[in-house]
Amino acid sequence: MQHIIDRFISYVTIDTQSDPNNPAFPSTEKQWDLAHLLVDELKQIGLSDITLDDNCYIMATLPSNVNHQVPTIGFVAHIDTSPDYTGTNVKPQIHPNYDGMDIILNTEENIVLSPSYFEDLLLYKGQTLITTDGTTLLGADDKAGVTEIVSAMEYLIQHPEIRHGEIRICFTPDEEVGKGAHKFDVAKFGAEWAYTMDGSQVGELEYENFNAAGAVVTINGKIVHPGYAKGKMINSMLIAKDFIAALPQNEIPQETTGYEGFFHLCDMQGEVEKTTLEYIIRDHDMELFENKKNQFKQVAKDLNKHLGQELVQIEIKDQYYNMREKVEPVIHIVNIAEEAMKELDIKPLIKAIRGGTDGSQLSYMGLPCPNIFAGGHNFHGRYEYVPAESIVKAMNVIVKIAELTAEKYR
Ligand SMILES: [Zn+2]
Repeated sequence: MQHIIDRFISYVTIDTQSDPNNPAFPSTEKQWDLAHLLVDELKQIGLSDITLDDNCYIMATLPSNVNHQVPTIGFVAHIDTSPDYTGTNVKPQIHPNYDGMDIILNTEENIVLSPSYFEDLLLYKGQTLITTDGTTLLGADDKAGVTEIVSAMEYLIQHPEIRHGEIRICFTPDEEVGKGAHKFDVAKFGAEWAYTMDGSQVGELEYENFNAAGAVVTINGKIVHPGYAKGKMINSMLIAKDFIAALPQNEIPQETTGYEGFFHLCDMQGEVEKTTLEYIIRDHDMELFENKKNQFKQVAKDLNKHLGQELVQIEIKDQYYNMREKVEPVIHIVNIAEEAMKELDIKPLIKAIRGGTDGSQLSYMGLPCPNIFAGGHNFHGRYEYVPAESIVKAMNVIVKIAELTAEKYR
């Protein structure tokens, strides 16, 4: 396990934070630092066809070691870390044999990782936790995933008695800014299906995510001297208030869970003359998703009718779709992952993602791609941690999926 911990630490101590405001690809130059290190490492452990393209995507192959035809499968992780919190000077702390008590991340700043707030910690009593020093994120999202894939490939190379078909791996940049799949060359990757190693708790297996749209509401008003405004002024902010009130009040993020969708008002800028509202619209079910978009449009229509003029304009753009539609026809790829976990005594936790993944975009690009746990918790902040044992478990799941796939196609 120490070898795997060392590998993980060598990745998280390289700053690879991506930048949502930079249109360049990749969005930050520093992602190349880890990319180059990975290329060297993949060479060292003996993978073939190692490529690093102009967009910072690394691909490599572990050739088949069986004589029969087995579908090529892939494993994908992302090398960047979230723009939400700094990834500069990550100083991982190792806590062997975790005792279930508070972990003091930083004495000077009194930053404590406590199971009284983060109950999940208690799942890992007796294990080796890797945390931050309280001043950065850790980057287990998704360098745990990268560690698991590299370690699994190394393990398979060192254990040729484990039979498997061809395996392709890919490490992408810029997942955290929503672009990890954008320049992914699915044809070059050449896998029949793949798995992102980018979930959280041990056992997570996900193949459903939201259908997603972004909407901008623009409301035009009319400014007049307030003392002489009677019958003349149109205050766009007050119309915005009516718009907000006309949407279902309980279909918002803080009132919904599981398969319940929502309208989320994420930004609002207003003055008398003009107000803009930015929304995201989410639902797992395609029909309910379409209904939500129509409902949104209807609110604008009704308001305009009531106002007697077209003051409310809306623009709705679809962002991504539920991968379920693409994965269900090939559900055996989920079943294989589930079976792999069960054989390793890991209880599969199959649930719908209340968000999107790169896998959902990849699924619509022709590479069905469920998501598997990578082991970390509390992503994108200073309380992020990962049990080393969870990294090992995810690595074992990759090895087992490779083995089961070869068996099933014999
Ligand atoms: Zn991630």
